[in-house]
Amino acid sequence: MAMANNVINLATFVSSIFPSSVDKLKKKSSNSFQKNNFWVSRISSVKAVKSPAEPATGKWERQRRPQNVDGDIFVDHTCIDCDTCRWMAPQVFTRVDGMSAVSKQPTCEEDRLKALQALLSCPTGSIRTEEPPADILDAQKTFPIPIDEKKLPGVYHCGYHSEKSYGATSYLIVHPEGNILIDSPRFTERLAREIETLGGVRYMFLTHKDDVADHGKWSKRLGCDRVLHSKDVEDCTIDVEIKLEGSGPWSLADDILLIHTPGHTEGSVCLFYKSLKVLFSGDHLMVTGSKLDILECFNRLPVDIQVESIEKLLEFEFNWIIPGHRRRIVFKDVAEKNAVLEALIQEHSSVRNRPLQCIFAAASIGVMVSAHGFFNSTAFCYLIASMGLQALWSFALACLDLHALRSKRNLQNPVLVSLFVVGDWVTAILSLAAACSSAGVTVLYARDLGYCRSAPISCSRFQTSISLAFISWFLLAISSHVTFWLLAAV
Ligand SMILES: [Zn+2]
Repeated sequence: MAMANNVINLATFVSSIFPSSVDKLKKKSSNSFQKNNFWVSRISSVKAVKSPAEPATGKWERQRRPQNVDGDIFVDHTCIDCDTCRWMAPQVFTRVDGMSAVSKQPTCEEDRLKALQALLSCPTGSIRTEEPPADILDAQKTFPIPIDEKKLPGVYHCGYHSEKSYGATSYLIVHPEGNILIDSPRFTERLAREIETLGGVRYMFLTHKDDVADHGKWSKRLGCDRVLHSKDVEDCTIDVEIKLEGSGPWSLADDILLIHTPGHTEGSVCLFYKSLKVLFSGDHLMVTGSKLDILECFNRLPVDIQVESIEKLLEFEFNWIIPGHRRRIVFKDVAEKNAVLEALIQEHSSVRNRPLQCIFAAASIGVMVSAHGFFNSTAFCYLIASMGLQALWSFALACLDLHALRSKRNLQNPVLVSLFVVGDWVTAILSLAAACSSAGVTVLYARDLGYCRSAPISCSRFQTSISLAFISWFLLAISSHVTFWLLAAV
């Protein structure tokens, strides 16, 4: 089957550009996050915005969106823009005006089947047909769907996404030591029977507290043990059979490792399937816009902790990331995976760089002004001025980052990021020029004129101050590149 349609190969970013509902949600109030209810908040907003053109009576939300092309299959106004139908049947569905719509009615059996699979998987039942689909039973029988029989034998997409899990995707691993169901699909007896024919389920692994949906019904029906980290146990999951404690890692089978990755939630855990080099990441990592990212504005813990959780993943050899929401990612090799993760770490580490930049710049000024005779050199005075500017700039950005983290606001809008880029590059160039010119003067004093031996000046302090200035500039240079890269991404 056309795997390229379902998988984003990061080497071909261009083909994977799709607008992000998450970005859109980031612009909304943070209240919905605090209620731990971001997908539902999207639904509410859809229902709230009734177009004046719609009829005053009847359930207009369930009517055909005008953005659909003519034909049997259509998307109604209840779409939550979760992207499921678009990655399941990209030939049929596209995104128009913030929701899915049918861009082309299926013209062959394969496309029709994919469209019906998407219809069955839609968490809000927003995909509908004008005529009752006579072939819906055939589509139902195809679940769970193998992801890639050659590269990922025994790994299935369960479909039947649940609104209770904010539309999350559930997967099944058929494993010789007992099958594992990853997160909870919507409960349907037909899917339960199909899973039974594949050997049932030994463990139901819940990546975190958001994607638990009908876990109780599944556990009862299939007789499986549910696994969830104790930090994510809530009233509705109090009876899960296995509560993971501590920071792991834990093992579900010889080649199945559970890695604690706090950040999105305190008890977020990824499942690493060693033999197939696959990481099931839950909501820890996912594709946002056109790249791998974290859902920073929906984090329950500070971003620093999530960055540490990403760093933890560098030691594991996988080249697939199968997230709880949105598209799967396949890397060319482990090296490419590490490069992408390191870029992600770097991007979000700039938050940590700011205070350090400020501290090193201030230290450089402190040492320089304590050195006897610094005012005799214009270069040293210039260094103090430029480090002062850098310290103020970094301090302001550190405060802004802190404010954004506390209020869970997203600062990644084009205007702000452009401002950061200009400020970072200007201060970085000034700092480098000041550090280089001061270094030149120090060399002149020490080597050529011999002032350090004869004149009453503190050469060692000049050198220390200049070294601190170079460190501060280096940190700023990293931040400058990160903000420049961010500008390209927003
Ligand atoms: Zn989540």
